[in-house]
Amino acid sequence: MTTEREVTTLGGEEKKSLNFIEQIVENDLSEGKNGGRLQTRFPPEPNGYLHIGHAKAICMDFGIAARYGGICNLRFDDTNPVKEDVEYVDAIREDIEWLGFHWGDVYYASDYFDRLYRFAEELIMAGHAYVDEQTAEEIAAQKGTPTTPGSPSPYRERPREESLDLFRRMNAGEFEEGAMILRAKIDMASPNMHFRDPIIYRIIKHPHHRTGSKWNVYPMYDFAHGQSDFFEGVTHSICTLEFEVHRPLYDYFIDLLRQVEKHTEDYRPRQMEFNRLNLTYTMMSKRKLLQLVKEGFVSGWDDPRMPTICGLRRRGYTPESIRGFVDRIGYTKYDGIIDVALLEHSVREDLNRRALRGSAVLHPVRLIITNYPEGQTEDMLFLNNPEDPNSDSHTIRFSRELYIEAEDFMEDAPKKYFRMTPGQEVRLKSAYIVRCTGCKKDEAGNVTEVYAEYDPETLSGRPESNRKVKGTIHWVSAQDSVEAEVRLYDRLFTDENPSEIKDKELAELLNPESLEVVTGCRIEPYLAEAKLGEYYQFQRVGYFCLDPDSRPDRLVFNRTVSLKDTWKKVNK
Ligand code: ATP
Ligand code: MG
Repeated sequence: MTTEREVTTLGGEEKKSLNFIEQIVENDLSEGKNGGRLQTRFPPEPNGYLHIGHAKAICMDFGIAARYGGICNLRFDDTNPVKEDVEYVDAIREDIEWLGFHWGDVYYASDYFDRLYRFAEELIMAGHAYVDEQTAEEIAAQKGTPTTPGSPSPYRERPREESLDLFRRMNAGEFEEGAMILRAKIDMASPNMHFRDPIIYRIIKHPHHRTGSKWNVYPMYDFAHGQSDFFEGVTHSICTLEFEVHRPLYDYFIDLLRQVEKHTEDYRPRQMEFNRLNLTYTMMSKRKLLQLVKEGFVSGWDDPRMPTICGLRRRGYTPESIRGFVDRIGYTKYDGIIDVALLEHSVREDLNRRALRGSAVLHPVRLIITNYPEGQTEDMLFLNNPEDPNSDSHTIRFSRELYIEAEDFMEDAPKKYFRMTPGQEVRLKSAYIVRCTGCKKDEAGNVTEVYAEYDPETLSGRPESNRKVKGTIHWVSAQDSVEAEVRLYDRLFTDENPSEIKDKELAELLNPESLEVVTGCRIEPYLAEAKLGEYYQFQRVGYFCLDPDSRPDRLVFNRTVSLKDTWKKVNK
């Protein structure tokens, strides 16, 4: 298995010092805590697809276990049947594996429903929990504020037997959702709001994707997560900073569980928190991403504009680039927002190393080499990847009629335009130097053909072909090239921090130009052989990959990222 650390060294960067979580883990291991065991878990709720934020948690949970010889399990936190589905379970497994990580065991919080239910009954009998029949609004109104104590529910002191009876009948399905809930009886004056008699069980009458209609009550996150960690033997329960305020409650329930279940061993899981990933121009919440999918603003969870792992995969991101990105941003105790250009920089850097190079013309205009013999062709050698010393090469066919990018010709060009303009020489990449002689236009003034003459002595690579010209442009043969559709992507949101904008609808925040579909592009036959999961650079244009929508007679490519690096420029 590859860890973040290896990715870093692969990238030729210096090793970083340990982050604060690694320091704690090293310390615990050296002190022999938990018998020298390291066990982590990645605990997604199967209510959506994983996004780049989850990748940060995955790299931590799996990465640290691998680095220190521990185990990371996969646990589905499936305590809310209304929003959960096996579709998500399967997608989550696929995405973690694609990122290059391997779990030990797969667990489900729903595996513990019996044990959690028993624990809840024990708490009721021990006077630590009661059934509250108030509405959610009434309960909220009694919560108090962080500086003023809450007020007790009128049901707080009801007899234990009565609570137990009601709880059992809640689970038997006798009451409607919201009619009553089970609350832990802790401290309505606690400065930690999570201790003010938190809800621990609620009625949900919706079939669960694994337990069917066995249960009518389901535990809340705070009553399931820590206990699940404990049941599994998790030693380091790593999560994001918003759970820091839940930690005392996490420990409280584990203490009670140890008493009730009479555990005497020293073991207990330890929760640690790091900053979650926020990216500019990106919405990261699963709820918002689901809304984008449901309301049809994107084509699906794997739309290449989505920050989901499957969206990034379809867009042409490599697992290594995502892991390298996470390694770069690191783990701290402070929330912030990362420039999305850094993510783009990471994939650009990785693709520069690995992408196969080819020629594609997105907006073709015909170029006729008027002094090149009709019917003649030459196969020019083209290196697949100049960054790879062992690179193979392929051939690209040169002929009298070619396509070049429309923007590579200008009839009246400014001085510093070093491309195709009448009277000026330019090199056709891997082929000859040509001198532009003019063009033909239609009635509307659009250039329909460009003319040039080639110099047979200037074939690229020949020792005598050292003549210098200022510009090199790419081309494909008119006859041999293949038509393709190319999809260019821009940011999905126009605002730098879309999650912070509260007074606008989602639709108003979207960038209307986030997708540009270019049809009628011409690509060399080598690119027409591209397969899903391969990475290409269309030279001078950007990094591309084949899209799953592609068919043999209708090729479709996605632009992963352009060649221009905005992050490097800003951060030099
Ligand atoms: P969202 O807020 O997007 O719905 P979530 O926290 O509800 O995400 P879970 O399925 O509960 O999603 O998350 C599984 C794990 O991934 C948790 O440990 C959570 O802390 C972590 N995680 C979720 N979002 C991020 C993020 N943006 N950055 C880092 N870790 C994250
Ligand atoms: Mg969550």
